[in-house]
Amino acid sequence: MNNQYRNLLFLLFIYLFTMNVENLVRKNILALKPYSCARDEFQGEASVYLDANENPMNAPYNRYPDPLQWKLKEKIAKLKSVNPSQIMLGNGSDEPIDLVIRIFCEPLVDNIVAIDPTYGMYKVCADVNNVEYRKVLLNDDYSLDATRVMNTVDKHTKIIFLCSPNNPTGNLLNRNEMKHIIQNFDGIVVIDEAYVDFSPEQSWLVEINTYQNIIVLQTFSKAWGLASVRCGMAFASEKIISFFNKVKYPYNINILTQQFVEEQLENTDRKEEWVTMLLGQRTYLVEQLNKLPLIQTIYQTDANFVLVKVEDANAIYRYLVDLGIIVRNRNTVALCLGCLRITIGTQQENDTLLQALKAYTY
Ligand SMILES: *Cc1c(COP(=O)(O)O)cnc(C)c1O
Repeated sequence: MNNQYRNLLFLLFIYLFTMNVENLVRKNILALKPYSCARDEFQGEASVYLDANENPMNAPYNRYPDPLQWKLKEKIAKLKSVNPSQIMLGNGSDEPIDLVIRIFCEPLVDNIVAIDPTYGMYKVCADVNNVEYRKVLLNDDYSLDATRVMNTVDKHTKIIFLCSPNNPTGNLLNRNEMKHIIQNFDGIVVIDEAYVDFSPEQSWLVEINTYQNIIVLQTFSKAWGLASVRCGMAFASEKIISFFNKVKYPYNINILTQQFVEEQLENTDRKEEWVTMLLGQRTYLVEQLNKLPLIQTIYQTDANFVLVKVEDANAIYRYLVDLGIIVRNRNTVALCLGCLRITIGTQQENDTLLQALKAYTY
């Protein structure tokens, strides 16, 4: 191989493997001049604030909150061992899910690829944004086939959604299959880790400096017990986060939420205790469900819920509703025929469910 040829190959290698996020971003978003709010134009301490048309009365709620939530991000950054500038906070994970589509996908041109079955919000957000949504069936055992995903990708695919542990199936996706996708796809891979606290595997967070094309989603809604507070987290390269910040509503996290989540973050021990309790209850519930003849299959779970196959999902679902016990009927979801998704509750809640299922007659 002569030198010139080698250099050319090297340049080709560089071209193929250095990802330029800007090339993936929609042209209008690249060109966007974001709204500059009063809190952007003056930062710091002053004695007289007459810049934002706020009411001087009713402190502290009269003042607009920090649009980038730095105090809260500092605390999250410490906990997660990332840089505060690698964090975006949203109104639940649902906000970054919507924003990532709006940042990268041109309506009626680009498309999204996601596993099937998975979390329903990806498709809803794609539909709202008029972006094609391509489903790739998981294997029958709910494992991920990276080759099948890559075969569905075309030059207009901008985002691949991978949910691990997956909802509604409960299992972790194979790390090497995920890595194959991340390394071979020239677009953004969103890894939804809403249930990561309940899983034995390490978070993908440790990889955000290695892979410039991943966005890791986590939430306060599950392990932290804060679903009503609506606070979700996206972790990615500073570059990607800067586009989130450009497109999001300026004051998307209100001051009550910022302060309350900050306080809750002091209680990591309590969160760990809840997780331990729920994992114990998960083992218990699975053991007990295993003894019931009406349960046909209990799927492997790495989350705070378990998917089970029963003989007549619709009938059992209605029977439980009549007793005031609500589970999720997943009977009509791909690969989930006959399946109910059961969230792990307290010992008492789980026992109430078990007693009801024991008493079920066909
Ligand atoms: C529950 C859940 C979320 C959390 O959504 P929030 O908007 O943060 O409450 C995200 N992804 C998946 C897959 C979920 O099941």
